[in-house]
Amino acid sequence: MPLTVETFATFAEAGRAFASARDARFMGGGTLVMRALNEADPAFAHIIRTTDPALRAIRVAGGVLELGAHVTMAMLLANRDAAFLAPVARVIGGPQVRSAATVAGNLFAARPYGDFAGALMALGATAETADGRRMPVEELMRPGVARTLVGAIHVPVPQERLLFAKVSRVKPKGVSVLSIAALLPKRGGRIEGARVVFCGMGPHPMRAAGAERALNGATLDAATIARAAAAATEGLEPADDALASAWYRREVASVHLARVLKEAR
Ligand SMILES: Cc1cc2nc3c(=O)[nH]c(=O)nc-3n(C[C@H](O)[C@H](O)[C@H](O)COP(=O)(O)OP(=O)(O)OC[C@H]3O[C@@H](n4cnc5c(N)ncnc54)[C@H](O)[C@@H]3O)c2cc1C
Repeated sequence: MPLTVETFATFAEAGRAFASARDARFMGGGTLVMRALNEADPAFAHIIRTTDPALRAIRVAGGVLELGAHVTMAMLLANRDAAFLAPVARVIGGPQVRSAATVAGNLFAARPYGDFAGALMALGATAETADGRRMPVEELMRPGVARTLVGAIHVPVPQERLLFAKVSRVKPKGVSVLSIAALLPKRGGRIEGARVVFCGMGPHPMRAAGAERALNGATLDAATIARAAAAATEGLEPADDALASAWYRREVASVHLARVLKEAR
């Protein structure tokens, strides 16, 4: 099947073209789109891309880190302002993948991918879309949200350390069995507004509502950690795949959450 590739100089033009081409696939760094093409994925024969340099900008203003959609994991790792995201960017694929994989592409990377998106959710990041919306990343990833292009991601710079762990197999090495990102803001020594996100435990990164409930209002002691771990998988929907079974993911999720929380004490 012939392939049409359209390249636009600006994000606005790409956004308009994308809105009127229902069959098109937008390409960011192409780590997944090119793989699909190489595998002759019949789902699309039309690619839209943009070379807009604004999409590669990284800046901080008013306590918010703004990331252009085309910022790659490698660019993040080289930027001091984005240091709080380095532990996450460092474990996305290998060096070749990190040099192309973009922050916006990670939001739309299907399970078991999306480790970076999970961290953005834990940080309460918002996305700026081509149709002028500004919405929480968490909302953008929900099924049924109208498809649109993301131009930038705004990440509140956290006061606390972003907790993160990626759990993958020794062989084959790489892709997550699951990953965990958590932010535990505190007031007067007690956790308030905990955000705990699992990737690989559902069709997209998901908040662990049970764990958050156990953490909020509590101090991070052994009893709280045990309660949060016991409630870790409440409402999550892990699946079987070639890396692990849903059963295995459920079994290990609470163990890894407890480890992540213990490190934060
Ligand atoms: C070998 C390998 C290892 C990997 N390891 C990991 C890993 O450890 N963790 C992980 O999370 N991911 C991993 N990935 C998946 C992938 O590389 C990353 O998720 C990456 O961030 C995707 O970004 P991209 O720019 O390459 O996306 P693309 O391939 O360009 O696009 C992916 C999807 O996102 C959409 N998209 C891209 N940009 C935008 C935008 N601006 N607005 C709207 N939609 C957009 C595309 O239309 C497409 O549907 C791996 C991939 C490979 C091939």
